[in-house]
Amino acid sequence: MDPDNDLQAAVDRLMDGLTSDLERLAAIPSVAFPGFPAGPVQEAHDLLVGLLREVGVERIERIDLPDTAPVIFGEIPPPTPDAPTVLLYSHYDVQPPGDESLWRSPPFEPTPVEEAGGGGLRARGIADDKSNVIAHLGMLRVFGGRPPVGVKIVFEGQEEYGSPFDGYPPTDAERFACDAMVIADLGNLRPGTPTLTTGLRGAAEVTVEVRTLQEPRHSGEFGGAAPDALLVLLKALATLHDVHGDVAVDGLRREQWTGTSYTEDEFRDLAGVTDDLPLLGSGTLGERLWSGPAITVIGIDAPTVDGAASAVVPYARAKLNLRFHPKQDPVEAQELLVRHLRALKPFGVPLTVTPGDTGPGYEASTGGPAYRAARTALKEAWGTEASYVATGGSIPLVNGLAQAAPDAEVLLFGAQDSMCNLHAPNERVLFSELRATVVAMCAFVREYAADFKGAGS
Ligand SMILES: [Zn+2]
Repeated sequence: MDPDNDLQAAVDRLMDGLTSDLERLAAIPSVAFPGFPAGPVQEAHDLLVGLLREVGVERIERIDLPDTAPVIFGEIPPPTPDAPTVLLYSHYDVQPPGDESLWRSPPFEPTPVEEAGGGGLRARGIADDKSNVIAHLGMLRVFGGRPPVGVKIVFEGQEEYGSPFDGYPPTDAERFACDAMVIADLGNLRPGTPTLTTGLRGAAEVTVEVRTLQEPRHSGEFGGAAPDALLVLLKALATLHDVHGDVAVDGLRREQWTGTSYTEDEFRDLAGVTDDLPLLGSGTLGERLWSGPAITVIGIDAPTVDGAASAVVPYARAKLNLRFHPKQDPVEAQELLVRHLRALKPFGVPLTVTPGDTGPGYEASTGGPAYRAARTALKEAWGTEASYVATGGSIPLVNGLAQAAPDAEVLLFGAQDSMCNLHAPNERVLFSELRATVVAMCAFVREYAADFKGAGS
């Protein structure tokens, strides 16, 4: 398995089998949300355990936690005592399909799609994250189940809905001990652009409420003097951004983004923003989306337009979603927003501000041997230098795993791409990305094992 073209050819020989396994897996509606049957989740679990056994993974366990679909844990010992151990993560549960009438083919019937570069397959979860489960499996097949590194496999069954597994790894740290991890639950900035995701923004929620009157009062008789709760709330929300649309809450970290980012046209396309509308904020897109804060008003309780009475509104409430710099402390970031709101008192009316959930961000350190190996591997797979990006979405488990193995390098790459329609109708994956991801995973373990030995670790 040494020369590059041997690897490419070996992956090509396996692609038909990998594709049909991906189709089998994607035909199982393994949705681990409340209200969906548990049977298909178990079925996907069993299929994967069978595939792992077939490729020669002898030690396979299931981690059972309360209110959590089973986690598949597999282990291949290092081939030599000086070989590193790599943890491979992905998840086999999927988002619910949503409104099936918006799908061009039934969500759990994998269907070919035509697209530049050889096309792909459409189905719920076929990119997120079953493509990456199959990519890990592909790497193991290429090496006949005996890769040049020790392997720990973590295939989660309830990532999309969330589960107590996020916090579990630090409580069983020995099990997750490794030198590097490949968290394959994402993919490329665009098809054909090999991408390492090095940062994830943190998230926090805050609810803000205003009560001004006991009940609605006639707007003709009282409007003009009686304090309107909705007006108070809107005045408060209007202070969160400056005239350019940049976040105007003091202390939220905003730094230059030094990696790659979308072009403005790509971003407009992905977000569905037409050319006649401006984008919000100033500075580069990387800074606005990844290394700076964002505040989104995600809900407002107020009378609806159809049900509107001519009355001063006595009560209004809004929920805010804050995204912040990967390295900012979540409670600190949340507290900055809470303090900003509490200090406002629009028209002299105090606001009731309640902090909600927080989730930490993540920033990878990129200077170690695993990153070196990954850069070489991605270049070999896609034929061009790897880009560094961040993402606004968070992967809570990354922090749990990083706490369990604090010295391990964390690599985030995979077979998805930003045009995959993740969590949306008509999700799809491209064969070209799946194939290149298998090549990249193989080249990564080969390079990493060689570098590790070379370093005499
Ligand atoms: Zn996912």
